Amino acid sequence: MKILVLNCGSSSLKYQLINMEDESVLAKGIAERIGIDHSFVKHESEGNGKVVIEEAMKDHKDAIRLVLEALLDENHGAIKTMDEIRAVGHRVVHAGEMFSGSVVINQEVIDALEECSALAPLHNPPNLMGIYACQEILPGTPMVGVFDTAFHQTMPADSYTYALPYEYYEKYKIRRYGFHGTSHKYVALKAAEILGKPVEELKMVTCHLGNGASIAAVDGGKSIDTSMGFTPLEGLVMGTRCGDIDPAITTFLMEKENLNYKELNNVMNKKSGVLGISGVSSDFRDIEEEAEKGNERAQLALDVYHKRVKKYIGAYAAEMGGLDAVVFTAGLGENSKTSRAEMCKGLEFLGIKIDDQKNDVRGKEAIVSTDDSRTKVLLIPTNEELAIARETRSLV
Ligand code: ADP
Repeated sequence: MKILVLNCGSSSLKYQLINMEDESVLAKGIAERIGIDHSFVKHESEGNGKVVIEEAMKDHKDAIRLVLEALLDENHGAIKTMDEIRAVGHRVVHAGEMFSGSVVINQEVIDALEECSALAPLHNPPNLMGIYACQEILPGTPMVGVFDTAFHQTMPADSYTYALPYEYYEKYKIRRYGFHGTSHKYVALKAAEILGKPVEELKMVTCHLGNGASIAAVDGGKSIDTSMGFTPLEGLVMGTRCGDIDPAITTFLMEKENLNYKELNNVMNKKSGVLGISGVSSDFRDIEEEAEKGNERAQLALDVYHKRVKKYIGAYAAEMGGLDAVVFTAGLGENSKTSRAEMCKGLEFLGIKIDDQKNDVRGKEAIVSTDDSRTKVLLIPTNEELAIARETRSLV
């Protein structure tokens, strides 16, 4: 069975065609600059290398059409007929309180997701465009929606409720939703497998540290709290997002800098985080390099970032009343041994002991704590596409 996984952004579309017999990636790529000039698809398929296809794409329908052409191409394709695609799995960012798991997409689901667009105005509309485009181009091929928010729907009310007038929750559904759920679930299940224990018996903190970053308390396989909230802005310090700040700073800045709501939103989402503190870059590789050269603000950005993660690990251990494992994943979590070590430093009281030699690893599954570390620390590369494909297979 072959499953096409789609992740539609506002001007991009990432895809993978996965063979579910052995879970291998038959082809993958990205369509970029959709709806802008100079659009192109970067495509690669098993055994055929990479190609760049430059062609105008005015919308997501054009992009999907081009991706399908690439998949069918006799030189760099991966399938002979469209029928080989058994189902399409769509990454959808926000399902509000509607869905606590993946679902087969029908009109009712589409209507519900349209309703959720108000909660994720940047993310859900392009996700829906992908769904509408597939309905037209691949009619009859089942589609499954896999939601970033779904895994966190198990959070209890005392985790997701903000201390605002309750009527705002009732009127506008303002609450914590959490994101990166597909990734948190994937690495939590994988960690249980590696540790050889039923996930139901484990208390874990999973740290998804990419450009966007979030952390989750996973107790018995269920998310009971997570750092991202109503939007992906809350929680950890990120590449360009500020994470937790005193909410009063917003009105103060609007007044002092004469910023309107949109400009302030831009500052908090695009100009803050480690980029904002360091003034160097949003990429941790650049910041680590600068810090090593003695750039104090780059070092400060790293220190603030690490401390925030550590704070959440401690908080979530307290919330769960124990801790069996900490899992690091995504760009920084998978690649930076110094960051992993820094974030775990001082957590010996929680039973965490990093093994410097074992921690000298990147991008592959590993236990990086010492053999006698009561709480295990693991590196697990995330694989959201595979997780989406698995969910899709299980529903079709
Ligand atoms: P996303 O999917 O959120 O765009 P990724 O999970 O790919 O992000 O993570 C991207 C980030 O990971 C980069 O911005 C970079 O800061 C960080 N990263 C990637 N490789 C390394 C590395 N070798 N050392 C430190 N940080 C890295």
